[in-house]
Amino acid sequence: MFKRIEKYKCPRCESEDILEFDNFISCYKCHLDFDKKFLGVINDENILAREELKGIFDTFSKRDT
Ligand SMILES: [Zn+2]
Repeated sequence: MFKRIEKYKCPRCESEDILEFDNFISCYKCHLDFDKKFLGVINDENILAREELKGIFDTFSKRDT
């Protein structure tokens, strides 16, 4: 089931130099935000940053054919 995370680290660069918010963490190194709900649930290499998820939504919403 869910892994318990005691100390958050960036899934992208593994830096522990992160800022923790209620729902997400923000990495000082890569300047990306990651939702806490994905951490420890999805493999690190498959976790998308909030910025990347937004990019995907944008691509879908303005799909010009
Ligand atoms: Zn990082």
